[in-house]
Amino acid sequence: MDLVLLGAPGSGKGTQAEHLQRELGLTHIASGDLFRDHVKRQTELGIQANDYMTRGALVPDAITIAMLQERIARPDTVNGVLLDGFPRTMEQAIALNELMNRLEREIDGVLYVEVPDEDLIARLSGRVICRECQVPFHVTANPFRVCPLGRCTGEHLYQRSDDAPDTVRARLVTYYKQTAPVIDYYRLIKLLITVSGVGHVDDVKKATLAAVRAIGR
Ligand SMILES: [Zn+2]
Repeated sequence: MDLVLLGAPGSGKGTQAEHLQRELGLTHIASGDLFRDHVKRQTELGIQANDYMTRGALVPDAITIAMLQERIARPDTVNGVLLDGFPRTMEQAIALNELMNRLEREIDGVLYVEVPDEDLIARLSGRVICRECQVPFHVTANPFRVCPLGRCTGEHLYQRSDDAPDTVRARLVTYYKQTAPVIDYYRLIKLLITVSGVGHVDDVKKATLAAVRAIGR
């Protein structure tokens, strides 16, 4: 079973991916990890990708697709893959269809972890970091009590500029602008499965697993 996982930053899709990997033996393939692995191993594709990234340019889809093709062709994907971080645009969704055709596989479902914007903003913009020990805290989910190293107090907490509410809103706008057509496309061809990412993490895990198990029944 080959799946695509979609969700905005802060939706918790990484947690769901780990759970599905453990429960169903799917291989989690995150595009960010693929890049880092190729760059670290200094492969031909990694060198090309790094060249774009150091110039602050987007890595062309052809490079990402080549990395994906090589990764999906490995024997550990026999139970299926869970693609995370790709496709993010409509062009990438089309390129993914072509890749799966070449590999004689197909996308069986697209799991969309949906969380309302207000919740995403609260989750992402509530993150603060202790300047002394670099431990992240969350103002509501994991409030600062005492620093694990025991040598600093709440006065050392600060917020990264990435996590400021306005920056978070801008990140979400970019995400939706790119990904909304992808979500619509998968809904149209009846592959989209929407799971609510709101509530206790164990409940979300149960709902996600049940939704995936129902595919093809
Ligand atoms: Zn600290």
